[in-house]
Amino acid sequence: MKKNLILVLNCGSSSLKFSLFKPENGEKLLSGLAERLFSEQASIKIKYLGQTSQTFLPSPFDHQEAIKNLVETLVFHELNLQIFAIGHRVVHGGENYCTPTLVNEDVKKSINDLSRLAPLHNPANLIGINASEAIFSDLPQVAIFDTAFHQTMPEKAYLYGIPYALYKEHGIRRYGFHGTSHYFVAQEAAKALNQTLDESSFISAHLGNGCSVTAIKNGASVDTSLGFTPLEGVMMGTRSGDIDPGIIFHLVNQLDYTTEQVSHLLNKESGLLGVSGLSNDCREIEDAWLKYKNPRAKLALDVFCYRIAKSIASFTASLTSLDALIFTGGIGENSNLIRECIISQLGLLNFYVSNDKNETCRFGQTGYINTHNSRHILVIPTNEEWVIAEQTSQLISYQTSDKE
Ligand code: ADP
Repeated sequence: MKKNLILVLNCGSSSLKFSLFKPENGEKLLSGLAERLFSEQASIKIKYLGQTSQTFLPSPFDHQEAIKNLVETLVFHELNLQIFAIGHRVVHGGENYCTPTLVNEDVKKSINDLSRLAPLHNPANLIGINASEAIFSDLPQVAIFDTAFHQTMPEKAYLYGIPYALYKEHGIRRYGFHGTSHYFVAQEAAKALNQTLDESSFISAHLGNGCSVTAIKNGASVDTSLGFTPLEGVMMGTRSGDIDPGIIFHLVNQLDYTTEQVSHLLNKESGLLGVSGLSNDCREIEDAWLKYKNPRAKLALDVFCYRIAKSIASFTASLTSLDALIFTGGIGENSNLIRECIISQLGLLNFYVSNDKNETCRFGQTGYINTHNSRHILVIPTNEEWVIAEQTSQLISYQTSDKE
């Protein structure tokens, strides 16, 4: 049987997203999500040939069980024997991993060591790799790092204004995340503009539960808003983004917070959730404002949009030309309200939104949403899974042809 499929796994702390691709033509044959793992409500949804099935799973159901369940479906449809490699999303690759990497014991050790910089993500990514190795023991496993695309940032962008020894001795610097997403949308934007990526410059805003803005010059990341950890930058669903570091000392010294409590506050209780007091989900906050005129919902949306607009404007300092502003991620792709609010604060940069185009370009559509007298503004649905599949396929084919 021809081995021509790549399985992509993206393991979160209590979830597993998966997709099965045919890299030669980009076709996605199967995809799905196992969520609420380790809880009574654990379930797995699998979409194959346009049909979606959902199964509730007996507790405790972990990542390995979820992968086993997925494999049963793959076996049933005779897809398992066609897989030639597994691509894994790994959030933090530090400074050593700037390209797709074949997983071995050393790589796993590095991913584990880097857990101290991404404690919410790297341990889960490693669980996915181990679970996948246990089941697909004869297949190559490839790690694609979220930080890799940002390794082209110049020193002036990745260094903080703190003693240099902290960078040299402890690796404290900006790393940036969402790299595969920013890379994908930049590639698609260049295609839309009929340009090559290496002669294109963009600012891309990936707005999902996590949010980041990136400046891309001649196809390479030159600055990004997420930093040493995925806590810096613009405000997010539950993460604060930038705050005065003095607030942390105040919380600890005056208000008796422990460092764990501060971490929980800034990672889990802040952002849209913290300001609105309602939810981290943008749709719920939009509803609370539009339907019920909840003033805290409006405040959360205002702070969110202003901080993103400010970040976009600040990244013009990293560029010498700007071909387009790109919106992506669950919010960037779907919320015309958020896009309008952000763009309305960028008139000095000659960005103007077309209300008609903005309202229609949602739910998976790619398109321009600017007026005719504005710079280009593009909405591009992200496809990180495809980047992982493509890069995994390229690495494995390259290694195979190298051996031949
Ligand atoms: P993640 O970062 O977990 O991958 P997503 O990119 O899926 O998250 O984005 C999730 C966010 O997108 C949520 O805040 C959700 O409310 C928001 N979102 C999804 N659809 C819409 C919509 N139609 N309008 C506004 N926000 C939306």
